[in-house]
Amino acid sequence: MDVRSFLAQTHDPAARRRNYQELVRQYYDGVTLFYRHGWGECFHFAPFSGRETVPAAIEAQHRLLVRAAGIKATHRVLDLGCGIGGPARSLARLTGAHVTGVTISPEQVKTARQLTRRQRLEGCCEVVLGDAMKLAYPDASFDVVVTIESACHMPDKAAFYAECARVLRPGGRLAGWDWIFTPRGDVEAERREHAEPICAYFALPALSTLEEIGEHLRAAGLSVVRLEDLDVGERRWFEPLARRLENPLSQVASRLSSTLAMMQRSGELLVRAARAGAFSALGFHVSEKPRATS
Ligand code: SAH
Repeated sequence: MDVRSFLAQTHDPAARRRNYQELVRQYYDGVTLFYRHGWGECFHFAPFSGRETVPAAIEAQHRLLVRAAGIKATHRVLDLGCGIGGPARSLARLTGAHVTGVTISPEQVKTARQLTRRQRLEGCCEVVLGDAMKLAYPDASFDVVVTIESACHMPDKAAFYAECARVLRPGGRLAGWDWIFTPRGDVEAERREHAEPICAYFALPALSTLEEIGEHLRAAGLSVVRLEDLDVGERRWFEPLARRLENPLSQVASRLSSTLAMMQRSGELLVRAARAGAFSALGFHVSEKPRATS
């Protein structure tokens, strides 16, 4: 990817909103290969105490999501912003449900389909190209909608959650977690110092607070069952990332490739913001679409 031209555009918040499709696609088409081989099939974080392996922490987070969303074998599940389908395949395996993943990156669709075929999960898992802001599905098509660290890419968060609610059947649940801005003191100073650089490096139009996510869910007509930052106590999600960034090999690699240099810098921004208490990757939410009353 042309990192210089990408960052020139993403440093302008209005451009990130206006050109979100192009910028998010450029970002993930460029980094997906590195994420896959450097991080794994799931492009997300999880609470981490240091006593478990990273794959175990990730699977525990999937189990939490399954319980919170109430996913059953008979369910049709929609995973919005699905990466290369790691979580979609894991949810399908854990529950027997049928999971459809949507991503805006053609590169991710290609990789997701290869992995799904290789793991013989074509019967219960499919990944399609699409924009989660404008879904092609009719109203009430899914029993459960999940979103894992992807809503932060959406240019209009209220419209995104309304779209999630639209495709959900009455009684169905929306659950997931997202990157959140968690300012403690001077909001504008923390936004400039922490939130804005993260948004620029990851092609995020803007970061929401947990409270804002709650407001969007309610405005979409959903009743909020759970809303909490899972980044608490000693279960710090960013420790595996911090270790990776400190590895001398990562530092050498980032001198050889401009994409890796951007990823190294962007990882450092996450860790710095999280240590300062201004950012969490684990803004967890569960909500339910009310059943129609007649
Ligand atoms: N949930 C996945 C990926 C998280 S990365 C996982 O945990 O592995 C964010 C994902 O959101 C990427 O796959 C990106 O392509 C997707 N995304 C961002 N904006 C999108 C949009 N408007 N429509 C569909 N997918 C989008």
